[in-house]
Amino acid sequence: MDIRDSDLEGLCRKAAEDYRRVDESYHGDSRDCRNLSSLKLCRKCFELYGPIQLEDRQMVEQTCFCDIPKSEEPWVVDGRFVKDFNQEYELCYCCGVAAMTSGSRYSSFYCEECKQRIRKVNELVRRCLMPYGRHSIMNGVSIKGESAEDSKAVAAFAAGVNEMNDRIDVVRTHRARIARKQAERFQLGLDEPIIALILRSHGVDLNELKREAFFELIALVFGRTTDEARRFYEEVYGQ
Ligand SMILES: [Zn+2]
Ligand SMILES: [Zn+2]
Repeated sequence: MDIRDSDLEGLCRKAAEDYRRVDESYHGDSRDCRNLSSLKLCRKCFELYGPIQLEDRQMVEQTCFCDIPKSEEPWVVDGRFVKDFNQEYELCYCCGVAAMTSGSRYSSFYCEECKQRIRKVNELVRRCLMPYGRHSIMNGVSIKGESAEDSKAVAAFAAGVNEMNDRIDVVRTHRARIARKQAERFQLGLDEPIIALILRSHGVDLNELKREAFFELIALVFGRTTDEARRFYEEVYGQ
């Protein structure tokens, strides 16, 4: 299987293969794998925290959301802007077992597989029920420059942003639930790094694991049961 270096999940899949081949203390040697070997999962807010190395090799501390407000203030270290907010990695908002690079207002909420499923449903209902990221433009909420003086257009934009933020809260609620569930399923110890969870998830049918998580998200968004969500999706799209 081809693994692109930019594909974080692919890297970890490869690390998982190496991990089994070498020994239990091996965590791969890419920066991503090393960082994921030091980040831990907060059991209150279910965000990742711990020391990490940035691309320019600077060592910094990623904090979870227990310590910083939800507004996601810019990440500044020693007076230098690092990222839009303090997060180099986060777990997929749908499956909770894929780690993705983050910290930009344009960072995706989902791993590739989950994003494809979510896109199908959003397109089917012709609404962005499950937002793709933090920035309004990622979710089709925008206002044209020439409409900036048009109070109706401005009000519609503001309403769109409010609705988007409510929907982001829903997927965040799901992510906290699914991260807790995956941590329990894969018996992630409080002191174990997140890569242990990722590696263990590669030891099961990962596609089915992600599908199940996706149906749970759909169930939450539509106010249905997980089985109803699965039946609905499989009727429309097949297996
Ligand atoms: Zn926390
Ligand atoms: Zn995912």
